[in-house]
Amino acid sequence: MVDNKALTTAEVMAPAELLMHYRRIIEISNQLSSTYDQMSLLKKIVSAAKELIQTETASIMLLDEATGQLRFAIASNLKPSEMEEIVIPIEGSIAGWIVTHGEPRVIEDLAKEQSHYQGVDKKIGFQSRNLLGVPMRTHKRIIGVMQAMNKRDGYRFTDDDVVTLRTLASQAAIAIENARMFQQSDFIAEMVHELRTPLAALKASTALLQRPELPEGKRSDIIGTMKSETERLITLTDDFLNVARLESGRVQLTVEVFDLQKLITESVDVVTHQATAKGIQVIVPQIDLQAEADRGKTKQVLLNLLTNAIKYNRKDGTITVGVQAQQEGEAQFLQIAVTDTGYGISREHQKNMFQKFYRVPTLENVERGTGLGLTICKHIVEAHGGRIWLESEEGVGSTFAFTIPAVEDLA
Ligand code: ADP
Repeated sequence: MVDNKALTTAEVMAPAELLMHYRRIIEISNQLSSTYDQMSLLKKIVSAAKELIQTETASIMLLDEATGQLRFAIASNLKPSEMEEIVIPIEGSIAGWIVTHGEPRVIEDLAKEQSHYQGVDKKIGFQSRNLLGVPMRTHKRIIGVMQAMNKRDGYRFTDDDVVTLRTLASQAAIAIENARMFQQSDFIAEMVHELRTPLAALKASTALLQRPELPEGKRSDIIGTMKSETERLITLTDDFLNVARLESGRVQLTVEVFDLQKLITESVDVVTHQATAKGIQVIVPQIDLQAEADRGKTKQVLLNLLTNAIKYNRKDGTITVGVQAQQEGEAQFLQIAVTDTGYGISREHQKNMFQKFYRVPTLENVERGTGLGLTICKHIVEAHGGRIWLESEEGVGSTFAFTIPAVEDLA
């Protein structure tokens, strides 16, 4: 499928031009080891690609392991808000072909190319004429695609262009891998830090229990503490494992058709005791809708949202579960919303809610938690191709909503 004709029409580069070429590449290699800001490095790589290959634009698309789709990490002709909205399908796009085949691709006339994905041009009013794309490889796998589009008028892509873009793409891949490794080590550091608190409490408790003069009443208090700290350790390790598994992209969904009403009732039953203890009433809808998703994982999301709605609710408050069917593009989804009458979350904190370990500072001492529950929910929902979001007003309450695929025929 590679247009080999284009690859062999190499124009010979003047020695001075060639020297400039390699200078730029070496410059970027040097920055690789000294720049920790991934975005500024990717910007430099993309602008070097544009300049050296002499194209109108250059971009990097990364593969989202969970959803199997490509998204822009950077593009010289796109604003961040535009990049966020655009999803490039693997099937039916040239970038998708490059990722699956692991080979470069030159297309001199995109108008004649059926597999060209038109979505981006339509969205931003850009006219793509030709492109050169190469896979981005780390030592383990292909993580995305780097593309240069619209070669200077009257010129064709050359063999040198392919070599240049490949070199820049491998540098970008190293930069991204480095950043991912840093993030991972941050996660491990945070995890160990979180484990230390319950472990220290357990150590102190055992030391106290060993004292022969300890009164009997005190002894049972200490055992109570040990029990709750052990439970906390179990929750923490479960959450850590969940996040690590979901982030590695190794989790497989077991998709089945199931009755959503049943799943909601089952989940509410699990938390009823906790809700009643706080005088909270849970209102459940009467629906007849079938979902097509991983039942166990959908339940995990719903349980997490219900538990939060209890934890961060006021005494004698209410929780309302709402469901509605909705069309998103070609697909049918079910939207499940959990609304509480609790503390609410200010705008400033809302944007961080799905980040790992994030907990609203003012609520940190109200309830115990890991700050990982919503991260886990987001991963699960997005692995299904769904969305999760919140609407909240401080002092009034919050609604957390997510979508999962509905069974094809909603009737
Ligand atoms: P955890 O509850 O274990 O801390 P989550 O990831 O589930 O972790 O939630 C992260 C943070 O978001 C919580 O610590 C809390 O500050 C806030 N939060 C979650 N749900 C609600 C809610 N329904 N109302 C108010 N704040 C909430």
